[in-house]
Amino acid sequence: MIALSLAEIAEVVGGQTYDIPDPSLPVTGPVVRDSREVVPGSLFVAFAGERVDGHDFAAAVVEAGAAAVLASRPVGVPAIVVEDVQSALGALARHVVRRLGTTLVALTGSAGKTSTKDLIAQVLRRKAPTVFTPGSLNNEIGLPLTALTATGETRFLVLEMGARGIGHIRYLTGLTPPKIGLVLNVGTAHIGEFGGREQIALAKGELVEALPEDGTAVLNADDPLVRAMASRTKAKVLLFGESDEADVRAENVRLMDSGQPSFRLHTPSGASDVTMRLYGEHHVSNALAAAAVAHELGMSADEIALALSEAGSLSRWRMEVTERPDGVTVVNDAYNANPESMRAALRALASMGKGRRTWAVLGQMAELGDEALAEHDAVGRLAVRLNVSKLVAVGGREAAWLQLGAYNEGSWGEESVHVSDAQAAVDLLRSELRQGDVVLVKASRSVGLESVAQALLATG
Ligand code: ATP
Ligand code: MG
Repeated sequence: MIALSLAEIAEVVGGQTYDIPDPSLPVTGPVVRDSREVVPGSLFVAFAGERVDGHDFAAAVVEAGAAAVLASRPVGVPAIVVEDVQSALGALARHVVRRLGTTLVALTGSAGKTSTKDLIAQVLRRKAPTVFTPGSLNNEIGLPLTALTATGETRFLVLEMGARGIGHIRYLTGLTPPKIGLVLNVGTAHIGEFGGREQIALAKGELVEALPEDGTAVLNADDPLVRAMASRTKAKVLLFGESDEADVRAENVRLMDSGQPSFRLHTPSGASDVTMRLYGEHHVSNALAAAAVAHELGMSADEIALALSEAGSLSRWRMEVTERPDGVTVVNDAYNANPESMRAALRALASMGKGRRTWAVLGQMAELGDEALAEHDAVGRLAVRLNVSKLVAVGGREAAWLQLGAYNEGSWGEESVHVSDAQAAVDLLRSELRQGDVVLVKASRSVGLESVAQALLATG
């Protein structure tokens, strides 16, 4: 973060200073909420959680070198006291971002935010210093904390924004106002919670409503609900996708035998070939989104294509491919699942498994509301159509639907099994796997199927 004095910070957040001997003392950062991350010069933000109250750590963090505590009550050590710590943190982030003149890129969508954010960061940092959301810290606390890690050198700030409901993205864009706003897709994630795709689109579109006239809305031309957001912004619109209408397009999209996609990238400034290191064709859309952002920030098609071809995954459990010493390949995509990514992962498995036995170890896709039965059934059927060798459906009712879909699609009987839990899947796989097999592990976050992938790798 840039150095600000305690007095300046107090003014920005509208707080009172307490027990501060010298308000001209600078906070050199970082701004942290976890007492274990405090280093000399930090500003410690005391949140009062349900189980832990940050205020209880005030003395310890000052002892560890923190310049002060941002708190909601005096704590007996140097503190800036405000009514609401969360909005104070937001105000500080907004102030710092404005002072730095950093170009802020914000992105949202139902699926692929973190993957795309990682891609954007890997492309942009070839051009200039870039700060981006670590992991999925995409809410009202993670966002300002990330923004506050920017320094005088930072040119680009890439922030993931998650939408919990109507009004949430509007609130987040108020904390860190973006210049470029990217909407990836309006899929089925959290559809049960939101009550329909239109509602999800309404919530995500708040991102483009927040853009200034000289900003850019980067929208997915292949997703009708995202495409339609063009009418909700005063910013310039840049479209990406496979559609002919798109400004940034992919042509000749192919999945190589390795399961990695390749395509020809077209941007308004030229064309260049991309061969990705990431697995699964769903990353083509993510890559195009990243390319559109990079184009907007002045990068050439060649520069972008090279960066996309070299980009790896920065976040775990997303199509993580590991080969065991005994020649069994484990594809851990257990971070999360939705119908789109299930299909993409199965297709990647099918192409990786040419001439090899393929195993799809799949669990529930959560939050599908009324569409749950049909979607699980369709995924089970797709596994059969792609000639996946074995389907292991893990869990309760939804797993039964997966298996039933497979069964109904073809003559599948023994090729699909339904097991009750992760341990049963591991036991089965341990006895059945043999050299050359490829195993995909995927389900929604709540299922926690990464334990299966981890167990398989541990016994390699
Ligand atoms: P979260 O809401 O948990 O932060 P996210 O939107 O950040 O999720 P990622 O973490 O990038 O998304 O990916 C989550 C899962 O979504 C991945 O495991 C992958 O299967 C799937 N996914 C990634 N990109 C896409 C895409 N473009 N379309 C559909 N599914 C995708
Ligand atoms: Mg995420």
